[in-house]
Amino acid sequence: MKAAVTQGAGRPLAITELPDPTPATGELIVRVDACGVCGSDLHLAQHVDLPGLVLGHEFCGTVEAVDPSVASEWREGARVAVFPLAACGQCVFCEAGYLSKCASAQQLGLHRPGGFAEYAALPVTSAYRLPDHLDASVGAMVEPLAVAHHALDRTPRPLDEPVLVIGGGPVGAAVALWARHRGAREVMVSDPIAHRRTLAERVGATATVDPATDDVADAFVALTGHLPGVVVECVGNPGLIQVAADVAAIDGHVTVVGVCMVDDAMSPLVALQKELSVQYVLYYRRADFEASIAALQSGALDPTPMLTGTTGFDAFAERFESLSHPTTDCKVLLTP
Ligand SMILES: [Zn+2]
Ligand SMILES: [Zn+2]
Repeated sequence: MKAAVTQGAGRPLAITELPDPTPATGELIVRVDACGVCGSDLHLAQHVDLPGLVLGHEFCGTVEAVDPSVASEWREGARVAVFPLAACGQCVFCEAGYLSKCASAQQLGLHRPGGFAEYAALPVTSAYRLPDHLDASVGAMVEPLAVAHHALDRTPRPLDEPVLVIGGGPVGAAVALWARHRGAREVMVSDPIAHRRTLAERVGATATVDPATDDVADAFVALTGHLPGVVVECVGNPGLIQVAADVAAIDGHVTVVGVCMVDDAMSPLVALQKELSVQYVLYYRRADFEASIAALQSGALDPTPMLTGTTGFDAFAERFESLSHPTTDCKVLLTP
């Protein structure tokens, strides 16, 4: 099969031939229909020396082969949204659907081959039925939408409370989309990049602000009459947790979704004075995945404005590389 494979830190992906996977016990093989590029894929390719890895964890596909031990509900031709974590299935975390916290958790596209390939092997426990009427490009959005759903699910505030979202990239846009869908009266997205603000409005943000030219706190007060009780940090650059604390209301809450991979200094005094609560989140649990599929199935959630590009293998390595630089893209999909 064709696959996009890492060649080591900082080197471009290579499009090469790999052996077709065969199903191990309890596994399905899916033909990958669409796989989104995530910021974490870009980070791994650039900074982590893992040559020979098939990245990609935001994908959906069609069942191609089934291990005989797998229950007969899975047949060839079934459409699958992939929950890209494999885990023991028995510990307290797995029981609660928090596979990411299982000591034996393995991520597809990191610890095992992922979706930047024609075929992928996955444990049957990673397979969720994707409704037939949903386009594959939407199926590939289940995973990033689950990230955003989880962030809001772990934000202990009323669903209708106005929300400030820091960052209008793929994560921030998905958080804005879900926040509006869950009933937030106002959702303001702060981002210095104009096209990201435009995108945020297209997915339902009621207002946007350019933090390079405007005071975010003033803008939020002008919109809602008060400082934000909920701030969701979706960028992961150093300094932004401090920004979130600075702008939050007294007794407010900060949810940190942005993955900051370097040291970040902050002065706790502001957060102390305001008695802020802070929740760090990573991944999702099964319920977040199920909520995303249900909202897509009913049509309640429309992530299509976030889909800015689709490419086959021919142009994929260059397109992948381009996403590491300033770009007007939001979510780019490989359609093998
Ligand atoms: Zn991701
Ligand atoms: Zn477990």
